[in-house]
Amino acid sequence: MLRLHPYVYHRPKSLKEAVDLLREHAGDVLPIAGGTDLVPNMKHGLFTPGHLVALKGIDELHGIEERDGELLIGAAATLTEVASNYLVREHFPALAEAAAGIAHPMIRNQGTIGGNICLDTRCTYYNQTYFWRKALGFCLKKDGDVCHVVKGGTKCVAAHSADTPPMLIALGATVDIASAEGARSVPLADFFVGDGIWNRRLEPHELVTAVRIRLPEKPIRTLYTKVRERKSVDFPILSIALAATVRDPDVLESIDLVISALGAKPRAIGGLDKIAAGKRLTAEVIEAIAEQAHRQCHPLDNIIVEIEWRRAMVPVYVRRALQDLLENGRGKAAPGDGRGSD
Ligand SMILES: Cc1cc2nc3c(=O)[nH]c(=O)nc-3n(C[C@H](O)[C@H](O)[C@H](O)COP(=O)(O)OP(=O)(O)OC[C@H]3O[C@@H](n4cnc5c(N)ncnc54)[C@H](O)[C@@H]3O)c2cc1C
Ligand code: SF4
Repeated sequence: MLRLHPYVYHRPKSLKEAVDLLREHAGDVLPIAGGTDLVPNMKHGLFTPGHLVALKGIDELHGIEERDGELLIGAAATLTEVASNYLVREHFPALAEAAAGIAHPMIRNQGTIGGNICLDTRCTYYNQTYFWRKALGFCLKKDGDVCHVVKGGTKCVAAHSADTPPMLIALGATVDIASAEGARSVPLADFFVGDGIWNRRLEPHELVTAVRIRLPEKPIRTLYTKVRERKSVDFPILSIALAATVRDPDVLESIDLVISALGAKPRAIGGLDKIAAGKRLTAEVIEAIAEQAHRQCHPLDNIIVEIEWRRAMVPVYVRRALQDLLENGRGKAAPGDGRGSD
């Protein structure tokens, strides 16, 4: 049986109380939201904080609403709430689909969007019991000084494996952050860094309080698709998020494509405006976008799936996603539409 280490569980009622606790116990504390990732990780001895600060009892972190031309989602909103909320489904159907594709209903009822944004990176050699990791020899990310993925490597390349951040980045979302020192906001596109040990620009004493997305002035089409081994319950081994402003008849004004589950941070594919802006989504343009994505994506051996296959799948799934937008009009974010990808 995997046992948890002893810790003190704090249940603050306000954000101020929570950030004060994080400051008071700095170095020996972690926030816990749904606990769907943190608790298994603690059982594996990957985190052993002496204090946990529970976020679910803090009213300020709950709720999904339209405010000042933006959709605001509280960090403690559950994945089920995000997946079923009518505002999310109306404005950003693919975000609802990204949340709906996470794990299974029990985990989505418990897990939060804040926890998803702050999800720890994953690796074959890391998400294992203490016994397993010790038998192999620990690694850079926890307890050791070598990387088993990149031999001789000095940097952890564990995979960013959360489903909502790629879609949120494609939608230009911003995260609100609070600490005992004050509040700040960061575009989600700048939030992640390519270091698998701690892949976010978030100090351990800071909390994500909300994520905001500007409501589109022009109709956009959004689409999220994930490749996984089991369709029922699984982390992505490749994920593709697409947000496009399309002018009839199918002329692209702008396109944002974010690909993840390969390295430590989601990758926004660059140079797409040059390839596609102002053009119709013809087979040639689709092929050029797929090739651009292929050139920029280089998976590593951090998941037990062949890297050559994962890389080969990048243009395949990008092509399919774009065809989906073109042929079926899927992912259109027109009011009341509520469709995304599957
Ligand atoms: C069987 C299984 C399958 C899963 N499948 C998927 C999947 O397909 N896709 C996917 O994306 N995830 C998956 N998960 C992981 C997890 O369930 C989700 O990512 C979930 O959204 C995590 O949210 P949480 O509230 O439970 O986070 P927690 O476990 O509470 O926290 C996760 C991390 O975030 C930190 N944290 C939490 N909230 C905040 C905050 N507001 N500010 C700062 N730090 C914070 C915690 O300290 C911790 O480090 C799966 C988990 C399991 C057990
Ligand atoms: S990528 Fe390397 S350092 Fe990071 S978790 Fe995997 S084996 Fe450890």
